[in-house]
Amino acid sequence: MTTQQEPSFRESVDLMFNRAVGLMDLPPGLEQKIRVCNATYTVRFGVRLRGEIQTFTGYRSVHSEHMEPVKGGIRYAIGVNQDEVEALAALMTYKCALVETPFGGSKGGLCIDPRQYEEHELELITRRFAYELAKRDLIHPSQNVPAPDMGTGEREMAWIADQYARMNTTDINARACVTGKPPHAGGIAGRVEATGRGVQYALREFFRHPEDVAKAGLSGKLDGKRVIVQGLGNVGFHAAKFLTSEDGARVTGIIERDGALVDEAGLDVEAVHRWIAKHGGVTGYADAAHVDDGALVLENECDILIPAALEGVINLTNADRIKAPLIIEAANGPVTAGADDVLRDKGTVIIPDMYANAGGVTVSYFEWVKNLSHIRFGRMQRRQEESRHQLVVDELERLSDDMGKAWSLSPDFKNKYLRGADELELVRSGLDDTMRIAYQAMREVWHGRDDVTDLRMAAYIVAIDRVAASYRAKGL
Ligand code: NAD
Repeated sequence: MTTQQEPSFRESVDLMFNRAVGLMDLPPGLEQKIRVCNATYTVRFGVRLRGEIQTFTGYRSVHSEHMEPVKGGIRYAIGVNQDEVEALAALMTYKCALVETPFGGSKGGLCIDPRQYEEHELELITRRFAYELAKRDLIHPSQNVPAPDMGTGEREMAWIADQYARMNTTDINARACVTGKPPHAGGIAGRVEATGRGVQYALREFFRHPEDVAKAGLSGKLDGKRVIVQGLGNVGFHAAKFLTSEDGARVTGIIERDGALVDEAGLDVEAVHRWIAKHGGVTGYADAAHVDDGALVLENECDILIPAALEGVINLTNADRIKAPLIIEAANGPVTAGADDVLRDKGTVIIPDMYANAGGVTVSYFEWVKNLSHIRFGRMQRRQEESRHQLVVDELERLSDDMGKAWSLSPDFKNKYLRGADELELVRSGLDDTMRIAYQAMREVWHGRDDVTDLRMAAYIVAIDRVAASYRAKGL
């Protein structure tokens, strides 16, 4: 996606890193240690499919082991390459540090177009890839814990978990070798929606600070804001769904591989999602105008632009035509370093990827903890919490009776108050807390230092500072 004169994705991440360390006071050796990718393993393996052996190429890159296990998704896409995997692994290091999940950074990828394969073929390929990684401890509950990314989801994670368990039959923590599993296979409630939910929580937190909203030239709350989303996959769909159904935002554009849909009155996100699931793209959807060259819609007027597909889509060829005053990077690396310069000069506020899409790794962290503790969140406390609340309600109702029923508790209040939190509520609460705290850490640097003019630099500074502290504590 990037143009010739632009740096690669990994170089782009390094350029942003360099800009941040230029504002910090790190010893040059430590700076270098943090920036470089520790190791990238390339695997080529054959799988017998349709009567012949097909060879696949996959990667698992470990960027930083200042904390272990290292963590990062596995992507299935035809364009996967070493540069991309290393860039994504580096972003994982910084992301985990920013949202305080106790992991180093890693990422994996397989060069494959998953849409070209049947489910049973994908299972064979995934199991073989998992075998190759697991036998080198590149999948391991205490060393390297993958998760879903573009082109993978619960199904692939369940196959990986099962493959690892078959290879490690006595490992009681086997399920913690991968996150993003379906609930019946050791997953956690709320993981599928987590990254999109995190985007929503990030925007809610941003709009809690009128000063920050004003920097983007906007005002008010999320209600009524016009949103354009690129990529209605896992992340884009959930973000768009929650922002419209819970915050009153209006999705005026949806960009997919085969074009874009636009409607100033607001698109029905769930209907479009159902259409894509059935027809493989947005083409033919009747209730909105179709734009063949979808990428052009990135340049449409809107309040919030959510690139949620792939990297490099906002680059030197289109940056100066982007009109959105606020961009939230739901995808990893959607804005190149060159485009970032152009947009900063224009005053566009960018909520950076390492923060914006950290909801996934945050809930993955909860899932990993759940797997290691072998108990569902809330199982011990829920009914105890309910009975304590019942005590309060009973006492209030007794007082009301004593006063001749002068007042009463509304049934709605009683329902909400009496219900103990289940796993989903606890996960959402933990995610919300994480997104708020991380935003405030970035914000403190953004507003507190004259030499930091954007949220991305603030995010890098917070993250690099924490990684550096971790290396120093190890005696490096
Ligand atoms: P996904 O495969 O579920 O969805 C990607 C969507 O983008 C698909 O609908 C696809 O058709 C669309 N798309 C692909 N190429 C496109 C193009 N050129 N133009 C427009 N649309 C295009 O993937 P996902 O898991 O939602 O991941 C999307 C992004 O979010 C990636 O950058 C990924 O690294 C990042 N991310 C994902 C997670 C997660 O938990 N899944 C977590 C953090 C970050």
